[in-house]
Order: sequence, then structure tokens, then C-alpha cells
Amino acid sequence: MRSRNTAPQQPIGLVPGSIAALALCGLTMSGLLPGIIWKLVSILLCGMVWWQASLNVMAKMDRRQRFIFQALCYIGLFLMPLIGPGELPRMEYIALKFTGVFLWALIIAIIYNIIYKNKPKMRKKIVAGNWKMNTLPAEGVELAKGVVAGRGEVCSCVNFIVCPPFTHLAMVAEALKGSDIELGAQNCAAEAKGAYTGEVAAQMIAALGCKYVILGHSERRQYYGETSETLNKKMAQAYANGLTPIYCVGENLDEREAGKHFDVVKAQIEEVVYNLTEEQFKNLVIAYEPVWAIGTGKTATADQAQEIHAYIRKVLADKFGAAAAECPILYGGSCKPSNAAEIFAKEDVDGGLIGGAALKAEDFLAIGKGFQK
Ligand code: PEP
Repeated sequence: MRSRNTAPQQPIGLVPGSIAALALCGLTMSGLLPGIIWKLVSILLCGMVWWQASLNVMAKMDRRQRFIFQALCYIGLFLMPLIGPGELPRMEYIALKFTGVFLWALIIAIIYNIIYKNKPKMRKKIVAGNWKMNTLPAEGVELAKGVVAGRGEVCSCVNFIVCPPFTHLAMVAEALKGSDIELGAQNCAAEAKGAYTGEVAAQMIAALGCKYVILGHSERRQYYGETSETLNKKMAQAYANGLTPIYCVGENLDEREAGKHFDVVKAQIEEVVYNLTEEQFKNLVIAYEPVWAIGTGKTATADQAQEIHAYIRKVLADKFGAAAAECPILYGGSCKPSNAAEIFAKEDVDGGLIGGAALKAEDFLAIGKGFQK
């Protein structure tokens, strides 16, 4: 069951809904389907489809486009009562006018949907490898060299990042020199420096050449008790040292089965990402990683990934507006060469955070080839 309050409202399939709504409006307005009930049904259907179409398109628009879209809808709202017959019975008259208004807004929303669907997205395509606590330093260097060696076979439009253990960072940085493959760390301390035995500061990893840092990975949340409070501090440290956080969100199996996944990711975003400034937000990568898919061999279906990625983008847009359209959202959880293309083909999936399959240069690169868009 899906939780009621925060899931995106998808009242009806957009394409069949639009066809049905347009057909019904045509029939009622031409008088072929007479009677107030049909008119009310067509108003309701148009309203539902329009609502969904608006949600879809507005999340993709910048401020100016939203303004034009809304202005066109309002122009229809004001003009429609002035057009058409005036001598119908009162209820019939109101129903006719409402149908006209919704029809107008629906047509605009459909046109926008078509335009935006075909517009190539400008977001960064990213394939990031999370090596976790695997490989010895020399093995890590070999792996990095393997990625560098095969990199030329993959479109230069794909940004590769490798995130080795802390102990390998300096050596891997050396192995990546001269390539466009970027370096990331798997974590950083919540404090800047001082008496924190065993911790590694953001400043230190930045000094070793890291550009990215993974924060909020489910394994850190689960095994090391990382909370939003800690993650807020870590994010601040990352930004203070010029690092781009790859902030992970995702629900566990119980939460998914209880239909709470939308609420879980929303809270993880609100509690941390909502505290960022607009400038910081422009330098953020989100990774959606359903915990039940990490290292289990179970992958979210491409449709499941798209559904929640679109939702995440909507939650981001609620706070950061049009900038949300530029934020890369990666999928993570048993992503491999055989499923990457299908998942990456989805509109709101901008790449992957890869665990197991990042430990073989060949597989990691093959995942990068999954980009067809
Ligand atoms: C991860 O832990 O970030 C991950 C996605 O792991 P895997 O690909 O092995 O499921």
C-alpha cells in the first residue's frame, strides 16, 4: 500500500486519460452526449488529467516557463466564460464553461509534455564506483588503471568517479592522473579537525585530490548510526572543502513493503538537503539506493526507479525550484552491465552508484556504455 500524504498523485495514465478526456469533452460539447452527468464526468476527467500533466511538466520548467504555462491557463480561465452560447440552462451553462476551461488547460499541458519529453536533458551523466572496504592498495591501483585504459571506449559524455577506501586515495589519484576519471571518498568526518581518533577530515580527502564524497550511504546509516544530524555536519564539511557530496537516500524492505518509501526518502531529503543554500544545492548529486537492492542481486525495476526518482526531483523542486531539474539523481542497488541501459534510459535516472560491479574495470565501464540518451 502506498502512503497517502506524500506520494505523487497519479490519478490516471496521461496518454489514455488525455484521449478519453478529449473525446468526452468533444462529445459533450457537441451535444452528442447530452445531460448534466456526462458534462460533470468530462469536467472531472479533464481536471484529473490536467492536474497530472501539470505536475509532470511544471517540475521540468524553469521560473519563466512556469509563468508562461500558468498565464496561458489563467487566460483560458478568464476568456472561456466569454465564449460560446449564453442562453443555456444555468447548470448546463456552468458545466460547458468549466469543460472548456479544463480542455484549454489540458491542451496546453499536453503540448508542453510533448515539447519537454523530446528535449534532451542537460544533466550530468554519472557512473560512480563505491569500492567499499574492498581491494588492497595495489589491487586498487590496478583497478583504477584498468578503468583508465578502457575509458576511451565509453562516450566522453559519461562522467566516471571512483571512490576507493581512504588508504588508497593517494595512490589511486596518481593512477588517474591524465584521465578525466574523478576521485571520491566514501565518507568524511563531521568535524573539521582535532581529537577525533580514527576519523578522516574532508580537508584531508580534498587535499588528496578528491572531488566527491559519498555521504549517508545506507551502510553508514545502518552500521554506524549516522543520523541526519551527523549528516548535516558532514555536508557542511564537504562544502567547506570544495567537495561535491553524493548524498544517498533509500528505504529498507519493510518500508517498501509498507508503502512508506516515498515518505522515507522525503524525510531524508528534507532533514538534510533542505538545509543547503541554493549555491550548495547546485553542487549536489543524489543517489537513490533502495536498501533491499544493495548487494542482494535484486534490482528495482526501471519503472520503480523512475517513479521514485521523479518523486525525489519533485521534492527537490518544492524547495529549490527549477534548479532541481539540473540535479543528477543516480540509481544504486545491484546495477550491472545487463540492467544499466534499461534503468539509465529512464527520464529521471542520471546514472548509477555502483558497488559490486565497480570492482571489475570491464563491468564498471560497460555500465557506462548503458547510456543511450
Ligand atoms: C552501493 O552499496 O552503493 C551499491 C549500489 O552496491 P551494489 O551495487 O553492490 O548493490
